[in-house]
Amino acid sequence: MDMEKPEVYEYEECPVCGSKEEFVASLAAQEIDKGISPAAVSNYLQVWPFVLRNPNYPVIIGSRSPAGNVFLDVCKGCGIVRAIRVEVAEAIALDKPPQMG
Ligand SMILES: [Zn+2]
Repeated sequence: MDMEKPEVYEYEECPVCGSKEEFVASLAAQEIDKGISPAAVSNYLQVWPFVLRNPNYPVIIGSRSPAGNVFLDVCKGCGIVRAIRVEVAEAIALDKPPQMG
């Protein structure tokens, strides 16, 4: 799967409590303040990748499907896990598995 030029949606405020602070992002900021390279820390809890493709249907090489990534973090105000960023693009099915990392 290959993704090009995603549309990006960012959600600054928690829809439950209105806080703009997240746990992992604030811990990452503390590490960067201590001198750790920003490239060496993650500033979100987890990423959920998604592809709108039926897993029970054969994949056609070169076919395109809506796909993306949902970036999650934990609200520091109320503890809810919420989306802080969503990237949406077209995924192109490749003839070999994508390289991870
Ligand atoms: Zn909240």
